[in-house]
Formats: sequence, structure tokens, C-alpha cells
Amino acid sequence: MSRYFCHDHPDVLSVETQVVDARPGAVILAQSPFHPGGGGQLPDRGRLAWQSGDVAVTGFEVTDGRVWHLLSEPAEPSGAVRASVDREFRAAQTELHTGAHILNALVYRHFNGALITGAQLGDDLSARIDFDLPGVDNDRLRALEAEINDVIGQDLPVRYSWVPLEAASAQPGLLRSRSVAPPPTPDGTVRIVEIVGLDRQACGGTHLASTAQSRPLRILKIDNKGRHNRRVRISLVDARA
Ligand SMILES: [Zn+2]
Repeated sequence: MSRYFCHDHPDVLSVETQVVDARPGAVILAQSPFHPGGGGQLPDRGRLAWQSGDVAVTGFEVTDGRVWHLLSEPAEPSGAVRASVDREFRAAQTELHTGAHILNALVYRHFNGALITGAQLGDDLSARIDFDLPGVDNDRLRALEAEINDVIGQDLPVRYSWVPLEAASAQPGLLRSRSVAPPPTPDGTVRIVEIVGLDRQACGGTHLASTAQSRPLRILKIDNKGRHNRRVRISLVDARA
């Protein structure tokens, strides 16, 4: 699989491209602005328009390293198409996913390198993140809310680098999740996301350019899920609501 276009061009959400393979209701594109999801981030939504049609892109299917874009109708577009990501949906996922990083960085720092055991973003500005945290008082977790918002206020920049998987595996803390591996790249490297001054970890998701682009975050709820697992629900504060 080649590197995601959106990793190199996170702000390009609409491209003119070509259909390189098609079957009724699905296409492979020469270039795709879509993020297919992963690591708890929901797959992008959007549209595909061509000379004689326009359909919604509803999902993705990766087969033999190729990304099929699933369409809302059994159309079979060919030739030149315009592929467009739903901007609002992507922006909300990006903001929420960046917030999940901040939480996860603070949990890692305050609780002896505690790892993530699962993450799922919602489409309603909320997310749940599970941590392996035996024996931690939930009030100490709740207290992270102020620190999360302090990090947002500091406007820390977010940067990327690619390092060989072997080197990443050897460095404690870079592979933070027990359940999710970052997507592979053709040269065997993994993408490292750095919130400068706070955290570095391997991740294939989409992130804000700096933390102050995020709305404030609330910790809504903390549940004990089994002896080891703590589930933290967070939500962006929607000023429009
Ligand atoms: Zn990420």
C-alpha cells in the first residue's frame, strides 16, 4: 500500500483524479483525498462526481493493498472524477482525534506509561478511549480535564516524521496502543506524530496543526470495564449547541 495522500496533503480535501478500477458500487482512484479510518478514527465521508453522475462515498474496503471506495449506489463511474471529502465531518474527527492524543499523552505521563487498549470516535463530537489502568482512582483521571484544556490553550504545534518500524518498536512509548497498529508504508517506516513538548507516538490518523485549533474538551464519564480497563468518555464543547 502506498502512503495515504492525506498524510502528505492533509488540507487537500477535493481532487480531480481518474478511476483506475471499478465494479458496480465501488471504485479505485489514482489519487484519493479520503482517510479510510483506523485507530478509532471514523472513515471519511464524501462524494464522487463525474460527467454523468454524482454519488456519496460511504465507506472503504482495503483488498490486496488497494483501497476500494464504496458508493451509495451501484454506479460504475469511469474516466475523470472529482473526489471530495466531507469537510465538516473530517474537521470534527481531526479535532476529536487530536484531543484523544492529548488525553492519552497525559495518561501515559501521569500513570507510569499506561497503554491504550481501545479507542472509538463518534460522529457526535464525543469519543471513548480505553486504558490499561489497574488500581487508579477515577478522581485522578477526572482531574486531567483541566490539564487537557491547559495543553489546548498552550497552542503546541503538531509535527510528523517517519521512522523505521524496528527503531520505533525499540523506543518505549512510541507504539502506544495494544490494539491498534499504525498503517504500513511501502518502505517499512511508521509515521510518528509529535505534539511538540508533550508527546510522540506512532499514528496514522488526522490531526490539527496545533492544539489551540481545538475547542475545549470535557471528560464526561469514566467507567471501570473489567479489572484493568478504564473507559474515558470525552466530548468537545460545542459552542453552537
Ligand atoms: Zn493520531
